[in-house]
Amino acid sequence: RQLIVDLGERSYPIYIGEGLLEQAAQLFGKHAIPVKSPIMIVTDESIAPLYLGKLQSVLEGAGYTVHSFSVPSGETSKSLEMYERVMTAAIQAGLDRHSSIIALGGGVTGDLAGFVAATYMRGIRFIQCPTTILAHDSSVGGKVAVNHKLAKNMIGAFHQPEMVIYDTLTLKTLPMREVRSGLSEVIKHGLIWDRGFVDWCREHAEQLLHLDSEALAYALYEGCKVKSYVVSQDERESGLRAILNLGHTIGHALEAVAGYNELVHGEAIAIGMVGSALLSQRFGYESEIHRITKQLFERFGLPVQIPAHMETDAILEAMMHDKKFKEGQMVFVIPVHIGKVEIRSDVKVEWVREVIEQL
Ligand code: NAD
Ligand code: ZN
Repeated sequence: RQLIVDLGERSYPIYIGEGLLEQAAQLFGKHAIPVKSPIMIVTDESIAPLYLGKLQSVLEGAGYTVHSFSVPSGETSKSLEMYERVMTAAIQAGLDRHSSIIALGGGVTGDLAGFVAATYMRGIRFIQCPTTILAHDSSVGGKVAVNHKLAKNMIGAFHQPEMVIYDTLTLKTLPMREVRSGLSEVIKHGLIWDRGFVDWCREHAEQLLHLDSEALAYALYEGCKVKSYVVSQDERESGLRAILNLGHTIGHALEAVAGYNELVHGEAIAIGMVGSALLSQRFGYESEIHRITKQLFERFGLPVQIPAHMETDAILEAMMHDKKFKEGQMVFVIPVHIGKVEIRSDVKVEWVREVIEQL
């Protein structure tokens, strides 16, 4: 499958399919990635033993000089310190203006390597090879960043990739929890935009959870398509793009309150989306939205309730730190029906408290 992310002059393709890493050299050729300049693959230490050798040898076979750099797995690698280390490796490898940086990995690797690519000599080519389902989200939109000690994704840029090579075979080694977490974000794209796709996800839950390549390729394609459409309408985040935050206001607060690794991102936003569905009843929307949303996530083995030990006050407190809060009212993405949402800035904090207590 091939999807073009259409951003006018800076359009780029997302290739999705089984065994695409094998074809990386052809795709590099097709995109006129110069053989003369050295390239660098950035990956993480869990992914390197699985897929780095393959990608490196395929590209070397086509005449590329390939360097690589592995960072420790996990969010802590999205740091300025790691950014500097990757930079140093890039300089030592002699990357030039015509070089490419290739991210082989999940959202962490993509965001870090992308930020290096955005800033190395004021910006060089960036190619993404996502290896997680969640990274379908980060492969569209061009946001790249590292975290600051005080806030996530604070230091970053917009830097669109040259292309995205999504090999669904790499997903087979993904831990089950990461599979579910990634699918939560896929389902989100259906909930905000496309009822038909939500129905399809429900009907294909088994295949998706068993990592059936055809089903995955379709789900990633549809997920990327929704995000790409929304982003292309609003590349610099002025309005529409905010609908992508469905479930994230509550979700981010839960992530902030939860202990390390208690909730992964997709789990937190699944609970958040169920919460938004509950909130929608305050605006007179059907209670069926809540029932359908809850059942859908349950079917995918995702949590739909806040862990019992988490205090309502702590969660609300975490939301207050969020920029979306203003004078007793909050901004929320609210489902209108399955496949459509609206942004409401008149959500009473009291309603949110009640929803959190109910969840
Ligand atoms: P991740 O990159 O940390 O990957 C999750 C875990 O799975 C890691 O431990 C990794 O080593 C392991 N892993 C990855 N691929 C594997 C494979 N094929 N087989 C076995 N193990 C594998 O995290 P993620 O969930 O992909 O992404 C989360 C990050 O993405 C966050 O930092 C988030 O901020 C960012 N993000 C960015 C955007 C954006 O628009 N730029 C959008 C969404 C999320
Ligand atoms: Zn998210």
